[in-house]
Amino acid sequence: MKKYDLVLQEFKKYYKHLSEEELFIKDLNKREIAIVPFENDIMIRHMSFNDLKSLKEYIEKNTPLHLYYSSAYYKEPHATDMNVKGWEGADLIFDVDADHIPTNCKVDHDKWICRNCNFQGIGHAPENCPNCGEKKIESISWICENCLNIAKEEVFKLIDEYLIPDFGVKIGEIEICFSGHRGYHIHVLSENFKKLSSDGRREIVDYVKGIGLEPRLHGFKIGSNGSIIGPDPKDPGWKGRIARVFYEYINKCTLEELEKVIGKKAEIIIKNREKILEDIMSNPSSWTRLKKVGIGNIVKIINIAIRDILCNIDERVTIDIKRLIRYPNSLHGKTGLKVCRLSYNDLEKFDPLKDSIVFRSGEIKIYVKEIPKIRIGDYEIGPIKDKEIEVPKSLGIYLLCKGVAELLS
Ligand SMILES: [Zn+2]
Ligand SMILES: [Zn+2]
Repeated sequence: MKKYDLVLQEFKKYYKHLSEEELFIKDLNKREIAIVPFENDIMIRHMSFNDLKSLKEYIEKNTPLHLYYSSAYYKEPHATDMNVKGWEGADLIFDVDADHIPTNCKVDHDKWICRNCNFQGIGHAPENCPNCGEKKIESISWICENCLNIAKEEVFKLIDEYLIPDFGVKIGEIEICFSGHRGYHIHVLSENFKKLSSDGRREIVDYVKGIGLEPRLHGFKIGSNGSIIGPDPKDPGWKGRIARVFYEYINKCTLEELEKVIGKKAEIIIKNREKILEDIMSNPSSWTRLKKVGIGNIVKIINIAIRDILCNIDERVTIDIKRLIRYPNSLHGKTGLKVCRLSYNDLEKFDPLKDSIVFRSGEIKIYVKEIPKIRIGDYEIGPIKDKEIEVPKSLGIYLLCKGVAELLS
């Protein structure tokens, strides 16, 4: 395992110099700690530490390839029997993973292969092989700037559009972590959500993903003279959101686009567009001009218009109340990048492919099997196939961790 000699050595150095404060998490003594060691891929779970000093000592001695802690708080976090552990609550966590967002650039940097029949493709990997139907797809996926920017926008959307206005979460209760690889974790550390069951958390997921949403039930009614009464953009929750996305869509759409959604009735809207928009924004909001368009068509438009405002999150993470989550300021074993803890105000300026780099000095020689165009820090490289190169240590370790390069000399 030559590859890991250097990576292990660098990880070890990193953890040696990490301060105890950087390992701070809320109520450490109630959390389960887990690591994946370098020696094998078998996770060591059910550890607990009473203070930062003992945790720091442990990871200095046992350099982790991956380091995790439980989103849950337990009475006895070291107990191996989940029933004995004594679940006391859990942070509310959202996972925004660029891997789950269908970005356009995936065809430029992602590949997949079916391990059953060797059928190959580029871009987002399908769940089943289109050739043989088996679920034995192995994907080689990469993160690029575009993927990570889109992931960042998703984080802002979740917080600005839902968590703060609709769920009353305060900015100070939100902690954002760059995962060190493909996305962000949003932790809500609030007593208000701590005891929430898995089902309760699923309701929140459905709410921010718009699952089961019936726009018609959000403020639409037929008035006595057959006119349409609709929601006000200033209404809280989904009511106001529906009015706002409808407004924005109508404001921007072309006749052709709208015709694809509601056919000939599109003309009525485009002809009276300015007045319709003015009415929706007036106080009180009025939808009467849309009488001839009909509620059915309005709902069709809304169902198209809301797509951009729904959150692209991995629901499994949120509903799992015993999840193990990457430890802030630990290193991601598949990239060597740091799991960066950010406040809401840090996020805008944060450059995940630069600010998460820890191995800043020196160069190493590697053999690269195959990589697309990638950037780490200010260094851009690729596409490359079958080549020996000298690269900055950060990039070299990244490629070694990804398993696409071998260390030379
Ligand atoms: Zn196949
Ligand atoms: Zn990308």
